Amino acid sequence: MNKATDHKLQSEVDKRRTFAIISHPDAGKTTLTEKLLLFGGAIRLAGTVKARKASKHATSDWMEIEKQRGISVTSSVMQFDYLDHRVNILDTPGHQDFSEDTYRTLTAADSAVMLIDVAKGVETQTIKLFQVCAKRGIPIFTFINKLDREGRSPFDLMEELENVLGIRSVPMNWPIGMGRELCGVYDRMKNQVELFQGDDHSVIKVQKVESYRDPIIREMAGEYLHDQLCADLELLDVAGDPFDYEKVLRGEITPVFFGSAINNFGVQTFLDNFLELAPKPEPRRSTAGAVEPTNEKFTGYVFKIQANMNPAHRDRIAFLRIVSGKFERGMSVKHVRAGKDIKLSQPQQFLAQDRDIVEEAYPGDIIGLFDPGIFRIGDTLSQAGDIEFDELPTFSPEIFSKVTIKNALKSKQFQKGIDQLTEEGMIQVFRTVNFDDILLGVVGQLQFEVFEYRMKGEYGVDVQLQRMSYQFARWIVDENKPDASKFRINSTLVTDKKGNYVVLFENEYAMRTAMEKNPTAKFLETAP
Ligand code: GDP
Repeated sequence: MNKATDHKLQSEVDKRRTFAIISHPDAGKTTLTEKLLLFGGAIRLAGTVKARKASKHATSDWMEIEKQRGISVTSSVMQFDYLDHRVNILDTPGHQDFSEDTYRTLTAADSAVMLIDVAKGVETQTIKLFQVCAKRGIPIFTFINKLDREGRSPFDLMEELENVLGIRSVPMNWPIGMGRELCGVYDRMKNQVELFQGDDHSVIKVQKVESYRDPIIREMAGEYLHDQLCADLELLDVAGDPFDYEKVLRGEITPVFFGSAINNFGVQTFLDNFLELAPKPEPRRSTAGAVEPTNEKFTGYVFKIQANMNPAHRDRIAFLRIVSGKFERGMSVKHVRAGKDIKLSQPQQFLAQDRDIVEEAYPGDIIGLFDPGIFRIGDTLSQAGDIEFDELPTFSPEIFSKVTIKNALKSKQFQKGIDQLTEEGMIQVFRTVNFDDILLGVVGQLQFEVFEYRMKGEYGVDVQLQRMSYQFARWIVDENKPDASKFRINSTLVTDKKGNYVVLFENEYAMRTAMEKNPTAKFLETAP
């Protein structure tokens, strides 16, 4: 083993931070992302983040459906350098383009930034995404946004984090005033104030102080706001949780930052603190135990497959999270599931429309691999022998449609399309036990539209989707009753692609009743 390379690999790992921003639509994720990119010279960025949203990408080669809607169907990755760090932001689509991909992308992140609108607090999509992160136990940092608007009290929001998400919080900074009165934030860790100045609040001044009682703050913010600040912080000092880094790393407590992304206020202090506290690339579990990022042998896994980024070539891109070792263009790796060596000759690191060829990459980085149909979600690529990383989690579908084919002569292609798209993780497929109807389950409505579009475009099949009123899917397992006919269920019984029994419920009441009637059965949210 070469010592010099070792050292290089270690330092490349140390400087990387790979995270996702989780939020409900409109909380300001696009705005915050843009500001973060401005602090680092974005090194891989095509167009601004806004442009992607604003449907200005006529020349891009995204799917038609993305063009029509002006949204990005699947998440992409943004990379930039800031101070000594190389930062990878995993974009998680919001709005209606919410999908299982959104969830799966979170498995490639080492930490998450939870963005919350100060007036709205914790919203539905935040809860869902939070839960996926919490299950993995990754550190979650909170940015409470839009402090330039009247919002709820910071104490109120902290309470909500605890009551709704079950996570305790430690404010890293604290607002001085709010809305029109907002004049700054006090940094509790560094004992400094960040103050807005000038009529339009365009100048931001950072000043070191002794403590929050420092008269300098009184001078700048006025008596009223300073008294309020002192009262709040005295209360926090006494009654708030102390900052415990170990708990942060275990995801048991979330550091909270206040700011206003649109005014670039509190963003830099957030970024500085966040990069200091956020974990570097973490080991991943595999069949051979945990694989450390500094292991010289290259390994990685596919967490997402995106189709049709270029309709002219109909290619697919497999997104690979590098777990260990150095990636070099043209290297040969073992595709473990397929049992074959493959050459990674056209790796791409890309954003939206532009794709750059990557020459080298390190643990924590995400690369896009040209996929002629050989990859599946969860596949391991390895130079470290026949190891496989833990299977990626699946997620419980929440929206269901019955799918039928318009032209029965195409049933072969229909089946092929369904099989492949299921394999890609684009949809989950179920069959009713009694009637052999085919039902599709997804977490976001857009997945159905993409399904329809791809069935036609790639398999030449017109499908008809009929929305069903189910809301929950539960995998039912009962060791005492392997025979499904013994289940006492009034709801629809279906099987998944592996033949596991799944019950689809229209509402929570029906689900509770079924649980009561089958006390020895387990009702699992995902496949066993
Ligand atoms: P996303 O849907 O989470 O990506 O949200 P956007 O970044 O598009 O922001 C949603 C809206 O909130 C836009 O109109 C933004 O201009 C606005 N916004 C974002 N950050 C702030 C902020 O700090 N203060 C105020 N007042 N508005 C903001």
